Amino acid sequence: MANVNLSTLIEQIPGIGAVFQKKLKKLGIKTVRDILYHFPHRYEDFSNIVPISKVKFHPVRKSEKKIKGQSRLLKFSNGVNETVCVQGKILEIKNEKTWKKRMFLTQAVIQDNTGAIKIVWFNQPYLTKTLKQDDSIYLAGKVALGDDGAYLSNPAYEKITNYKLQTDDLIHTGRIIPVYPETEGLSSRWLRYIVKPLLVELSTQIPEILPKEIIQKNNLLLLKQAIWQIHFPDSMDLAKKAQKRFSFEELFLIELAVISAKMRLNKEQSTAIPMDVKLMKKFVKSLPFKLTDAQRKSAWQILKDLEKPCPMNRLLEGDVGSGKTIVALMAALETIKAGYQVALMAPTEILAKQHFQGVSALLKDFNINIGLLTGKEDKFVSRKLKQEVIEISRRKLLEKTKNSELDILIGTHALIQGKVKFGNLALVILDEQHRFGVDQRARLCQSQAIQTNKNKNISLLRTVATVRRSVPHLLSMTATPIPRTLALTIYGDLDLSLIDELPKGRKKIITKIVAPANRQKAYNFVKKEIKKTRQIFVICPRIESQKDKENIDTASSWANVKSVEDEYEKLSKEIFPDAKVEMLHGKMTPKEKEKIMKNFKNKKTDILVSTSVIEVGIDVPNATVMFIEGADRFGLAQLHQFRGRVGRSKYQSYCLLFTDSPAVKTRQRLRALITSEDGFKLAEKDLEIRGAGDFFGARQWGISDLVMDSLKDIGLVEKTRNAAQKILEQDPELKNYPLLQERLQKFQEKIHLE
Ligand code: ADP
Ligand code: MG
Repeated sequence: MANVNLSTLIEQIPGIGAVFQKKLKKLGIKTVRDILYHFPHRYEDFSNIVPISKVKFHPVRKSEKKIKGQSRLLKFSNGVNETVCVQGKILEIKNEKTWKKRMFLTQAVIQDNTGAIKIVWFNQPYLTKTLKQDDSIYLAGKVALGDDGAYLSNPAYEKITNYKLQTDDLIHTGRIIPVYPETEGLSSRWLRYIVKPLLVELSTQIPEILPKEIIQKNNLLLLKQAIWQIHFPDSMDLAKKAQKRFSFEELFLIELAVISAKMRLNKEQSTAIPMDVKLMKKFVKSLPFKLTDAQRKSAWQILKDLEKPCPMNRLLEGDVGSGKTIVALMAALETIKAGYQVALMAPTEILAKQHFQGVSALLKDFNINIGLLTGKEDKFVSRKLKQEVIEISRRKLLEKTKNSELDILIGTHALIQGKVKFGNLALVILDEQHRFGVDQRARLCQSQAIQTNKNKNISLLRTVATVRRSVPHLLSMTATPIPRTLALTIYGDLDLSLIDELPKGRKKIITKIVAPANRQKAYNFVKKEIKKTRQIFVICPRIESQKDKENIDTASSWANVKSVEDEYEKLSKEIFPDAKVEMLHGKMTPKEKEKIMKNFKNKKTDILVSTSVIEVGIDVPNATVMFIEGADRFGLAQLHQFRGRVGRSKYQSYCLLFTDSPAVKTRQRLRALITSEDGFKLAEKDLEIRGAGDFFGARQWGISDLVMDSLKDIGLVEKTRNAAQKILEQDPELKNYPLLQERLQKFQEKIHLE
């Protein structure tokens, strides 16, 4: 292992063949550093080495038996409990096939100078190739009770060879053992075999990247110590300390990335748009309602940002129905009246179209040209003051956008697909920003966190405008509340405005978990609502029916999850034969979807069966019941979004949750929806229960599980943020910390934040 360093490519590491190289690369592991930063997700404590005569089966204590639902399991496994490690010689070892279950049993007897014990392995017949009579081995595992006494069941094993004479050399037994996430066919056993020699070779030379003061102040392990202890800890306590060190390190890198992104953005130029108080008053007066205080405050923050000559980068966050659109429109109107263009991007065609209609109506007295551009359609609509909506060709629309005749262009991803060029774009508004894939978002608002190259680090739309040497302001909107820890990390380069109150007069939505036995009652209730000419949403987790399909794994629970197609059939034919039922899902063409949404909006349909495509933004005030099948399949924040589709009028609205999951935990989780209408609390709860990994599809960010976990820890997040802030204030380019700077660069290549 000579000449190995942290940057050595995996191809050059002895012992990693082509097959494993491929598997490692799939996990994004390319260098020695990547391997050493591939951390175990848990440990097995096999440090309890005992003489064989002391190995006893301890019957399960009564208190443990009481745990509900587990008694059967315990009985089945004969009360497996204690984990022990023994060292001895193999007296005999043989394979045998059980007659009943076609299962391989490998049975062995191991002896030390105090006694002997039986060992049983299941379905690992290849073991007899490596483990032979007279071999000395370590074994670690659980003690079980068989017909003829205690035995070790499926223990981990480690042969004692010339190289492993001391317990220090052990990697699979006799100590605390790392267990890695088993992905891509990389076993923990294999990883230990690779990681250990690398550590032996390198750990003493790994230079510290964190500044000394930070290490001391936060009582962190040094890198060379931590990297060893996280893989092969001397105690569980040290394992925890190592984890803490790496959580800190990664959060700190994230903070450095987002804070320096923000600092760089502040140095960019953008169009300063003076606040036009008169215009705003006129607009607010033209609305059929009064703005809430929270809307006013957010609008003020945004308009203040627009006045600055550096680009705004703000997230407007507000629960469903809190009225974000109006606030964004105020910014748009100011920008347009100052003589510049605005782009408004939404995640779906339905939503883009709805915005187009809504914006057209709200700005009808303001003499503004509005265009709509979506992906698959080739006809576009543009509207001029007091004129009808007209269809124009895409070519013409693009021309009007380029020559600045168009004031605001509303659309889907089509807005960032190449051909669109703006004459003088000054403001980009991104609706439901969390719904955009990371790549799409990166293209639109690629955070300065990622690249230092000046041209690459600004959004495509922003780039378009740099022709004028000016970067547009960016306003993102989301209804998914962002827990504080995420606001300070992943979203750390954004300023936040919060609309934390709903317009007055909204009725509380009645939320219920409906037991399977009460399903018919719920249907009867729906019938009554339809009689009152109200409308119903039915949400299912899947699109397609699995009934007629072959080769489906009927054992998988996914096969039993309700689908839009099945429910549509059932509801339209059996349950509500007199009602008009339609279905909506992502596989339909934009035209079909649009027609179905239109029918529903115009009350031509009573029941709309849909996938989560209706989740975002859809506004149908006459809908009063949200029926959610397979509710356990969705996150709380998402369910809360669904619920927000109803309760948009003076009518009492309902959200009915259905689940087949018998798990107590599931019901507990869903119950949070009944007790809380606060999207924030629900999001925090989601984060707590499901972890950041599921949050907004956070897996895409490319940050480690360790940090996902520490994203629950506000104290740690604040500490790392303060540390990063302090260091960047003194040394924005990290010139005094070359190792840290290098590490940050490598880190940024790996992650994709907002
Ligand atoms: P969201 O924040 O979910 O995007 P919208 O902007 O779509 O919410 O607003 C939801 C509905 O509430 C719209 O029909 C809008 O016209 C209406 N609305 C917005 N602000 C107010 C307000 N201050 N008072 C009453 N209704 C409002
Ligand atoms: Mg909205």
